[in-house]
Amino acid sequence: MTDKIDIEALKQRLVEGIQVVSGEGILSGSGHLSVRVPGTETFLINPRFAGVLADAGDICTVDFSGKRIGGAGPIPSESVIHTAIYRQRPDVSSVLHCHARYSVLMGLQEGGLIPFNREARIFADGVPIFPDSHGINSEALAARMVEALGPHHAIFLRGHGCVVTGPGIEGTCISAIQLERACEDQLFLMSFSTPKPLPDAGRGRVKERLENPYRAWPFLLYKHKVKSKAEIRAAIRTLDEGEHY
Ligand SMILES: [Zn+2]
Repeated sequence: MTDKIDIEALKQRLVEGIQVVSGEGILSGSGHLSVRVPGTETFLINPRFAGVLADAGDICTVDFSGKRIGGAGPIPSESVIHTAIYRQRPDVSSVLHCHARYSVLMGLQEGGLIPFNREARIFADGVPIFPDSHGINSEALAARMVEALGPHHAIFLRGHGCVVTGPGIEGTCISAIQLERACEDQLFLMSFSTPKPLPDAGRGRVKERLENPYRAWPFLLYKHKVKSKAEIRAAIRTLDEGEHY
């Protein structure tokens, strides 16, 4: 019974994540967000319609072979992105694939993303560019994409979109928002200057901060009216005074 309650809570968090990234303009009528079901070889994903319209009851359960084992479906044709990453990357618990505007533009730039500012430096280890612009809808293509992703946190799909990974739903959504903003800012900066990496760019990604984004996430839930202020405040787990990530 406990497991069932946890799954329902996870589905609800996934729906909230989808609402936030949709509100931020990163997810549109297409694109999908998933989360690994802890301790299993399955994950949860929104079905094949505009994610923002999905309720917790619509969320599908898919096994690592790509077979839908729960929910009415249909699941997205690019679900194989998620299966391939979960199989290869035990450190990843949540995956977002979207066709966000500035990520598409950045994926067409020769040099790709430069860790030049606060948003970009969580990707200081690099965001590879996958050269194939087709939808990732086959095992073979997904395997090549995962190989190109390697140990990185995100990858651009040239002329198509991006894939962002993280240690949880909220951290993945925040990473995707920061990636899109970094792309937008870099493209703007490039119109009048040459972006250069920050000298301390490598210290930008803090796993704990992505696992408990106690400032950014409640703000986003409030901004997009996903929950009431009282509900959001009740769920905040701040660091103790004087404690640092
Ligand atoms: Zn796609």
